[in-house]
Amino acid sequence: MDYTAILKEIRREIAPFEKAGAQATYIPELAKVNPDQFGICLQTLEGERYLLESADVGFSIQSISKVFSLAMCFSIVGDELWKRVGKEPSGTAFNSLIQLEAEKGIPRNPFINAGNLVVADILMSRLADPEGEFIAFVRALAGSDGVDYNPVVAHSERQKSYLNAAIINMLKYYGNIENDIEDVLHFYFMMCSVEMSCCELAQAFIPFANHRAPFDFGGVRLTSSQVKRINAVMQTCGFYDEAGEFSFLVGLPGKSGVGGGIAAIHPLRYSVAVWSPRLNDKGNSIMGMKALELLTTKTEESIF
Ligand code: GLU
Repeated sequence: MDYTAILKEIRREIAPFEKAGAQATYIPELAKVNPDQFGICLQTLEGERYLLESADVGFSIQSISKVFSLAMCFSIVGDELWKRVGKEPSGTAFNSLIQLEAEKGIPRNPFINAGNLVVADILMSRLADPEGEFIAFVRALAGSDGVDYNPVVAHSERQKSYLNAAIINMLKYYGNIENDIEDVLHFYFMMCSVEMSCCELAQAFIPFANHRAPFDFGGVRLTSSQVKRINAVMQTCGFYDEAGEFSFLVGLPGKSGVGGGIAAIHPLRYSVAVWSPRLNDKGNSIMGMKALELLTTKTEESIF
């Protein structure tokens, strides 16, 4: 497959969308990012890399971190996790409160904010040094010690986090948060603040694409079947209330974040990470989604 030519062709074809949408501004630090940036990195299981433009520029991974925290939590508590968090698509916004109240504090899945706050709470209860151990795991996955939190972004989000604060208060009310809510919010925002480049993300997602190889990174071990289940949750819940649309247009498991990043995998073939800060009204990168739609169209390969 000539991925170099395909990526170049894709870049040309998405040019008309360069000014469509806007970056997230509800996190004040993200509003300062130059929205006119684009990067993509595709990495095959054999280790070949194909990249374009700002593929090496670090950005705020935001909710893409939810894949890493889910992996860590699943490795520690196994199927016990599903007693406190579901695994169904929510069909509602990632920060919606209504469903959480109707379902009495059991979030639909680990990729909406409520679900990931519960994941963060479990990690806090089970780990001696949650922040240290989480970043060590992500560095091991990415094969890069340069990956780090951005405390300025985390602090900036906390200043304006009225909705996440409401969500965690409701979770606490229903008995689904064990730790102090301020501590859990802090850890959650720190995980969201992690900065990585498309190349680092592509590397970090290879172990999810390669579920037949042993998953053992930074002390986090998963069985092949657990990795496939995480991929299944990415497929059904990875794109907010646009997971159906992403399946329809792209056909790969993946996860997006409001920093404008998307990481996706083609099981047993490749991982791909794309970044462009301008989002659609669901919170997904417009250029990123378009690029991945064209990738699976031009290669004529998706999981379907
Ligand atoms: N930190 C963001 C929030 O909690 C993450 C949202 C996202 O990327 O989906 O609102």
